[in-house]
Amino acid sequence: MRSVTSGARHLVSIADLDGSEIVRILDHGDRYWSLADEPIKKLTSLRGRTVINLFYENSTRTRTSFELAAKRLSAEAINISSSSASTSKGESLLDTGRNLQAMHPDAIVVRHSFGGAAAMLAKTASYAVINAGDGQHEHPTQALLDAATIRRHKGKVEGLEVAIVGDIQHSRVARSNILCLSKLGARVRLVAPMTLMPRGIELIGGDLTRERVRICHRLEEGLDGADVVMMLRVQHERFDGEAPRFPNTRELSRTFGLSERTLQFAKPDAIVMHPGPINRGVEVSPQVADGPRAVILQQVSWGVAIRMAILERAILGGPGGQPDA
Ligand code: ASP
Repeated sequence: MRSVTSGARHLVSIADLDGSEIVRILDHGDRYWSLADEPIKKLTSLRGRTVINLFYENSTRTRTSFELAAKRLSAEAINISSSSASTSKGESLLDTGRNLQAMHPDAIVVRHSFGGAAAMLAKTASYAVINAGDGQHEHPTQALLDAATIRRHKGKVEGLEVAIVGDIQHSRVARSNILCLSKLGARVRLVAPMTLMPRGIELIGGDLTRERVRICHRLEEGLDGADVVMMLRVQHERFDGEAPRFPNTRELSRTFGLSERTLQFAKPDAIVMHPGPINRGVEVSPQVADGPRAVILQQVSWGVAIRMAILERAILGGPGGQPDA
């Protein structure tokens, strides 16, 4: 017997969602914003369901956020990390997936350094697969919580100017956000030195992103008039064997770092975002990270609400236990 309902849906990539489906997920997440303020943060829509967090890469926010989201909906949440997974004994990801499937989970939330890992699992899974980051490819739940945070602060996403600044080359967050924000009608500037900007990135979503994405190699130009500034960490862990992409971190920070001075290039009411973990004093100064324009911790809080919506969509097919048509 399959343990998932017929409404189960994978979430592998923002590329698989259209704008209206993204809005449905954001609206669904809106139901749960205020739950964090309640003394008892518990709903019952996923009672008796099982969610496995299968993390082959480090994570603080995403794993905890999914665990909390599952528990707040009364699901059982089980965590497996790379050090405890059997891959360290030579088992393949697909074999791990098959073995976990034999225990009838309803959803597996997977993070892996291989771009394509979530899609690979989803191909044969009878459970719902949620991509919590696959290599440099995508991090769809981060993009959805980012869009939710922007919508919450600005009242809309459509028509906004969003600057994504930093290591675009190695960032799955950037790729998911380019797709998500373009589908929601924002304009995106990608701001990085040439050596951290993948060639052709503006074509990632075909004609849509060709029209909506602008490449900038100077911070001042990229931030000019921006409504939202999204800073990215340099993903040193993905530099394996590559030639150095910038002379040193101090120089990168001086030319592309966000400080109170460089933030002035953006609109006076621009918000500052970061998916975390932050390297203070590198991509963002402590004054900005802790300042009034930063919504970085709100991204974390509201990420739980969006992930509750994502789990319900994955397992039930729609909000609150009523699979939608
Ligand atoms: N937490 C994000 C990710 O997993 C961003 C980062 O690690 O810098 O991709």
